[in-house]
Amino acid sequence: MLASLTILIFGLSAIAWLASSRWRKNLRRKQVMASPFPKTWRAILKRRLPFFHALPADLQLQLKRHIQVFLDEKHFVGCDGLLITDEIRVTIAAQACLLLLNRKTDFYPKLRQILVYPDAFIVDSQRQDPSGLIREQRNVLAGESWEQGQVILSWKNTLEGAANPHDGNNVVIHEFAHQLDQEDGHANGAPILARGQDYLSWSSVFNQAFNELVEDTAVGKPALFNGYGATNPAEFFAVATEVFFEKPAELNQEHPALYRELSHFYQVDPLNWH
Ligand SMILES: [Zn+2]
Repeated sequence: MLASLTILIFGLSAIAWLASSRWRKNLRRKQVMASPFPKTWRAILKRRLPFFHALPADLQLQLKRHIQVFLDEKHFVGCDGLLITDEIRVTIAAQACLLLLNRKTDFYPKLRQILVYPDAFIVDSQRQDPSGLIREQRNVLAGESWEQGQVILSWKNTLEGAANPHDGNNVVIHEFAHQLDQEDGHANGAPILARGQDYLSWSSVFNQAFNELVEDTAVGKPALFNGYGATNPAEFFAVATEVFFEKPAELNQEHPALYRELSHFYQVDPLNWH
């Protein structure tokens, strides 16, 4: 009797603690969003992020509020001697938050840290080939997204991606699309969709476009998507997200069903921004 009473009290306190921590988090976010957007941050948006002024006014306002919350919650770490500045923080946050507009979001809940290198960085890894042999690999990367709460970015590639918002290449959009994909614990090219029935058309449309890219890449046929998207469905989702935000007209023309799926998921219509 006493044991079950203790368990009950413990359970109730845990529920109360969880509810109050969510309440405190939401209250904090409201306060952060209500505070003025710093002038220096506005100047960074103007200087570094040409896409910002193509957004409708309501989305500009929403994005600024998202940036404030993102920067209040996420920790930035400079690597290889890079000093983290507001320029770095705002430039990355603005592009990361573009993926959250108009959506019910918890601001990348698994993400704790953004590690930033001055330039592309080297990652050593091991891969087992089909014969069972372990091979050492050395890759030079512009970005990486980990399920354990980190995104790693090259500042040089981040700047290049932001400077040209119409070339379909954007490392920040790419890595944060991976974060969305990883939210359900599986990096498989299917992020958490609003309704259960959405997965059916998502997987049929994505599989078809992915298989097409695999075939085109194998014969060297030029495609709208970077050939890296043919690596696996998770990379394809990240690459397709870059194209959705940066080349929406081309995507809508060549793959209208894919454009519709992404527009439904991201709750925005970039066709009207350009
Ligand atoms: Zn990737």
